Amino acid sequence: MLTTDPFDGLDVNGDKLREECGIFGVSGSDSAAALVALGLHALQHRGQEAAGITSFDERSFHTHRAMGHVAGNFDRDDVIRALPGDVAMGHVRYSTTGEAVLRNVQPLYAELVSGGFAIAHNGNISNAQRLRKELIRRGSIFQSTSDTETIIHLVATSSYRTLLDRFIDALKQVEGAYSLIVMTPEGMIACRDPLGIRPLVMGRLNGAVIFASETVALDVVGATFERAVQPGELVIVQGEEVRSIRPFAPMSPRACIFEWVYFSRPDSIVDDRSIYDVRKRIGAELAVEAPVEADLVIPVPDSGVPAAIGYAQASGIPFELGIIRSHYVGRTFIQPGDGVRHLGVKLKHNANRALIKGKRVVLIDDSIVRGTTSLKIVQMMRDAGASEVHMRIASPPTRHSCFYGVDTPERAKLLAAKHDVGGMTDFIHADSLAFVSIDGLYKALGEGERRKIRPKHCDACFTGDYPTTLTDQDEAADVDQFALLAERVN
Ligand code: SF4
Repeated sequence: MLTTDPFDGLDVNGDKLREECGIFGVSGSDSAAALVALGLHALQHRGQEAAGITSFDERSFHTHRAMGHVAGNFDRDDVIRALPGDVAMGHVRYSTTGEAVLRNVQPLYAELVSGGFAIAHNGNISNAQRLRKELIRRGSIFQSTSDTETIIHLVATSSYRTLLDRFIDALKQVEGAYSLIVMTPEGMIACRDPLGIRPLVMGRLNGAVIFASETVALDVVGATFERAVQPGELVIVQGEEVRSIRPFAPMSPRACIFEWVYFSRPDSIVDDRSIYDVRKRIGAELAVEAPVEADLVIPVPDSGVPAAIGYAQASGIPFELGIIRSHYVGRTFIQPGDGVRHLGVKLKHNANRALIKGKRVVLIDDSIVRGTTSLKIVQMMRDAGASEVHMRIASPPTRHSCFYGVDTPERAKLLAAKHDVGGMTDFIHADSLAFVSIDGLYKALGEGERRKIRPKHCDACFTGDYPTTLTDQDEAADVDQFALLAERVN
């Protein structure tokens, strides 16, 4: 029996962890804002709720921010012409911290004693609430509910003299994950937190310096990849001068492992490794760890495709496109009237019935979050006549929430936090379910079994091993405990 609304539209990407943001910056190009718009297009998968671009033309800052996709907001000549200057940066957003309103859309901008200051942030500051309360107590007036604004106030109130020193002073007070691009009248600064949790790369285009969340955005604007911005590094661009400083105590990097599993586009390169290749290797590991007798390997589109190819190649079971995705159903699709609303379910994804009928299928997906999508897809396979439906997942069970800039449901809503694999199998009504192990995931990355190495990645949503303190979470938990105690005493 389906436990979810069967008339709910099936969007296989609707039950995923969602990367919160993508950032892109250009310094030294006459077409800076236009390049940023193109770069943001390439990063659209990292945030679809809102987008913004800020430029600087040696006199003033110019900003355009809007709710919705990059296309539709930044594909008009008049919008780009209103963003003059040879330095520009942009941001695509999906909110987890702060409401989905225009005042939270980045880049954020403020007039400081040193002049204009614009900032774009990918990540999440895990002590933002504590800092915010303290700043407000000292007189700061916040304009947004975004955690990123905390950095602006820390810079504004720092006792250091130069803007750079103020910025470093601010960063030393924040904990959590941040890849940042900052624009001031002096130039552009790009940086990553000391653990390098969120990605940031650097490239060149005809002398211009480009920063982007992923290499795919460099490809799209025709830039050459130069290198990753290193964890704890600040790259400072002033005119043609580019210099690097590392003001933090060195730490062992812990880049987000979920970038490999799902967030990054498969055509991006991270640490000299292709995301696509690693995902295929995860699928191959999964085939070794969780074999099954079946007739077809079917990916859940699009994110399950590379792992399904790897599973099929390693198992010898044919890879087939058993679920077809329509590329013509946009977010703006108007739901038909009640009488035929259930038909809308199949508009975006539909089973390839002729292929599936009477077959034992292995469905490959990248992850299970709430499990509601897996339930529907298994049902879709059964409705199309599959004789057996086996689900294989190219990541370990997602048992913990992310506090580093990824939208995760609260822990109680994660299927793997509520059930063991047997219970999850029952929930999604599959004949079998298996996940790649955490060791298998690290092996696919070419890094050996996790228990035998010092992990180079944050994998907290699988292991609960958070690489930073989580001040706001800990304080919220303390408040809850106190409330519970007070309730008991009363
Ligand atoms: Fe990535 Fe998970 Fe760590 Fe968040 S908790 S940074 S999603 S690995």
